[in-house]
Amino acid sequence: MNPVIALVGRPNVGKSTLFNRLTRSRDALVANYSGLTRDRQYGEGRLGERDYIVIDTGGISGNEEGIDAAMAQQSLQAIEEADAVLFLVDARVGLTAADEMIGQHLRTRNKPTFLIVNKIDGIDDDVAKSEFYQLGIAETVGIAAAHGRNVRGMINQVMELF
Ligand code: GDP
Ligand code: MG
Repeated sequence: MNPVIALVGRPNVGKSTLFNRLTRSRDALVANYSGLTRDRQYGEGRLGERDYIVIDTGGISGNEEGIDAAMAQQSLQAIEEADAVLFLVDARVGLTAADEMIGQHLRTRNKPTFLIVNKIDGIDDDVAKSEFYQLGIAETVGIAAAHGRNVRGMINQVMELF
C-alpha cells in the first residue's frame, strides 16, 4: 500500500498550492483505497519509483472555541487516515493561536508529523523556522510551495519513513 500523506493547517497557509505541486492525477484513485472517503481531495504523487497519496483539507480556522470545534471534522479524519502528517504554517504571518491549537492536537496523535514552514521565498530559512520551534515538532522543513523551493527535498525526507 502506498503511504498516505495529509496536509493540514489553518486556511491560507498554502495547502492547496502544495497539493497541486505534489500531485498529477486527482480523485480517480480513491476507489482503489479502502478507508478513504470522498469528502476530502485526494491526489497521487510520485517520487522516483514510489507513489504516495496526498490529502488536501479545507483547513482549520481556529476561530471556534475548543480543539474539537476548531479542528474541522474532515481535517481530523484526514489525520486519522494518514501515515504521515504535513502541518503547514505561514512564515509571513508567523505563529498564530490556530497553529498552536493544531499543534496541540497533533501532539496527542502518534503520527509522524512534519512542521512545514511555507512561504520562505525571499526569507532566511532558519530565521523563518525559529519562530515555530515552540510548537514542539522536531522535524521542521522550510519550503516555498508556490515556487517549488525545497518541495522535492521535503517529500524526499517524508518518504524516507516508508
Ligand atoms: P490553503 O488555504 O492552505 O489551501 O492555501 P492556498 O494554497 O490556497 O494559498 C493561499 C495563498 O498563499 C495563495 O494566495 C497562494 O498563492 C499563497 N502562497 C502559497 N504558497 C506560497 C509561497 O510559497 N509563497 C508565497 N509568497 N505565497 C504562497
Ligand atoms: Mg486550500
